[in-house]
Amino acid sequence: MPISVGAPRLLLRRLREVMAERESAQARLDKVVVLIASNMVAEVCSLYLRRRDSSLELFATEGLNPEAVHNTHLKAGEGLVGLIAEHGEPMQFADAQVHPAFSYRPETGEEVYHSFLGVPILRGGHTIGVLTVQNRTQRHYSDEEVEALQTTAMVIAEMIASGGLVVSEEGGQEARREQSARFTGVTISEGVALGHVVLHEPRIVVTKLIAEDVELERRRLAQAIDELTGMIDGMLERGDLQRAGEHREVLEAFRMFAHDRGWRSRLDEALLTGLTAEAAVQRVRNDTRARMLRQIDPYARERLHDIDDLSNRLLRVLAGGAGTAAAGNLPQDTILIARTMGPAELLDYDRQRLRGLVLEEGGSASHVAIVARALGIAAISQAKGVLDAVEPGDAAIVDAEGGELHVRPTPEVVSAYADKVRFRARRQAQYAALRNVPAVTLDGARVSLNINAGLVFDLPHLDQSGADGIGLFRTELQFMIASTFPRLEQQTRIYKAILDAAGERPVTFRSLDVGGDKVLPYFRVNKEENPALGWRAIRMALDRPALFRTQVRALLRAAHGRELRIMLPMIGDVAELTAARTLIDREVTILKRHARPEPKKLLVGAMIEVPALLYQLDRVLPLADFASVGSNDLMQFLFATDRGNMLVADRFDALNPAALLALRVIVEAAARHNVPLNLCGEMAGKPLEAMALIGLGFRSISMAPASVGPVKAMVLSLDATDLWVRLQELLACTSTSVREELKSYAAEKGVQI
Ligand code: PEP
Ligand code: MG
Repeated sequence: MPISVGAPRLLLRRLREVMAERESAQARLDKVVVLIASNMVAEVCSLYLRRRDSSLELFATEGLNPEAVHNTHLKAGEGLVGLIAEHGEPMQFADAQVHPAFSYRPETGEEVYHSFLGVPILRGGHTIGVLTVQNRTQRHYSDEEVEALQTTAMVIAEMIASGGLVVSEEGGQEARREQSARFTGVTISEGVALGHVVLHEPRIVVTKLIAEDVELERRRLAQAIDELTGMIDGMLERGDLQRAGEHREVLEAFRMFAHDRGWRSRLDEALLTGLTAEAAVQRVRNDTRARMLRQIDPYARERLHDIDDLSNRLLRVLAGGAGTAAAGNLPQDTILIARTMGPAELLDYDRQRLRGLVLEEGGSASHVAIVARALGIAAISQAKGVLDAVEPGDAAIVDAEGGELHVRPTPEVVSAYADKVRFRARRQAQYAALRNVPAVTLDGARVSLNINAGLVFDLPHLDQSGADGIGLFRTELQFMIASTFPRLEQQTRIYKAILDAAGERPVTFRSLDVGGDKVLPYFRVNKEENPALGWRAIRMALDRPALFRTQVRALLRAAHGRELRIMLPMIGDVAELTAARTLIDREVTILKRHARPEPKKLLVGAMIEVPALLYQLDRVLPLADFASVGSNDLMQFLFATDRGNMLVADRFDALNPAALLALRVIVEAAARHNVPLNLCGEMAGKPLEAMALIGLGFRSISMAPASVGPVKAMVLSLDATDLWVRLQELLACTSTSVREELKSYAAEKGVQI
């Protein structure tokens, strides 16, 4: 006889009463199984829980032999119970005993029961136990009955998690959560940080599981879903994605699921069994997580990840706020963990409390990576599965030298890292001592070391690092964190603040380099097949001169009475340089016409990052006041290797002889035309690569502020002429990289790298 619709609610209410009783955990468990059996009109109800060794132990039963409790153990995958645990899904059998997986245990006396229904007890997507009912007769359990048993299993899982039901070692996931874990990722900002986990998107702990008024819970859930879908639709319509750190595809998926009938009807069913709105969301989320963890197809897994995220957001809306952890109380040593995040969101955190950042997604060229580097926090990305394995408050170590995260580290690991941190601090102190020492090689070559910047909070780095100037100011970063196009006055104010902070030191402003992977939330562009090769940088500036001219005007105004250096990104040929120059000259003429104060000196430079330019250097360089190699882009185009694609990131090395030869060609051309040359890609900030650059003849390079110290230490210990002799031999070799040879050179000659 199937159960009636009201029965599950009654069952949940009775379970709550049992929970409130002052009895031993075992006595309560015993009552729980009796309640379930009678509510579901079953002769048997048994509860198995997972032990540390992964076996499933019978913890309580109504109907089977009581002697079997704590004596019957099933190994992982053994019997029908083991099968359910393994699959993490409900299963039913009209005649269980004929199933090949049936494992007969004489001590239980279960031979007289034929039909069998079992559901996993899930926590965080992992099976921590199995709940079963059995009947003598061969029968089919209805969908409602399966649903009701699943809901009961979820309530039991939450009771176990809160320590209210069983006090022992069980709970596979709980046990795993106490163990140390190590994750590997990709370094996006160097450093080592020890601290405690904060989840960027806080998880809501559902404490009230059982509804007092089902109708009320239904209304609450409907309202929360409306609010959530409104938020998602709004974000998609406004295109306000980067600011909120969202990927469009993820939001599109959210929208799809939020409107998905399947998801909604699963929530409704869970509500009908008598759960609160929060518990219903949690129920559906548990099932999703269980499926996600078993899913092998990466695409399907990703989609399940989206539903999981969506459920978490819905829980936050129900809790009255969808905000991030930035607004909460942060520990002094926050290790922030997120699936993905936008640069503006990272900037919302109190820098003083941030030590490290770990992302499950995103590459080292992503915008949040640029901000993490600017903030100087240790950060890694691509740390898959981290969110599943951490709890807020867990101790953690981000090793962004080795690209690792250690969660709940053992004392040995902590002490090894404490040593490493002390070592780094000593090294930093040595670098700080070099702050006012000019970077001159052993053979007397003065090398100008500059910083790359892009945000106002980068400015103190100029003094702290002892750099000679700002070799690359990425103006687009300011545009990327804004929610609307910065107006002329706003831009002027920012550029002026930067020039004021730099004082006598030169600042090279790069004109807007948007497009490709740098998206402005408020600026719609058509989807492109190959955005890196698409409508970006100078191409956009020349097609939309109004944007470019406004920026140039702001720069001219900000620089009155001072030197102004404007650098043009992605110049591909002579015509682009002359066209941009004409636009700049026109702004200067307007300035003169209005008798506004002018810059003392205006220098216009070209970035060398499009390989075609290598064959036009003799025509382009005479038209430029200076040039700067954008090695990030130049290398990605030279080697046809997407700089943001982790799959191909290791396929080429900037210390490949072909790359070095290309750089040498540029050095020689700049010398021929007497044009000042700089290099501002990431390779300038790595001591070994920087050593090669100086060997090739570069005398000005620009890097992240934290790299100035290590690179200066290298310069001070290098004989550039001697290295050039060695490099000439290496340039002729056929290997993919001369990295090892250069390392040996440095070791042999005592160059600090
Ligand atoms: C480069 O391409 O090397 C460069 C400095 O510019 P960006 O990284 O901003 O493209
Ligand atoms: Mg570039």
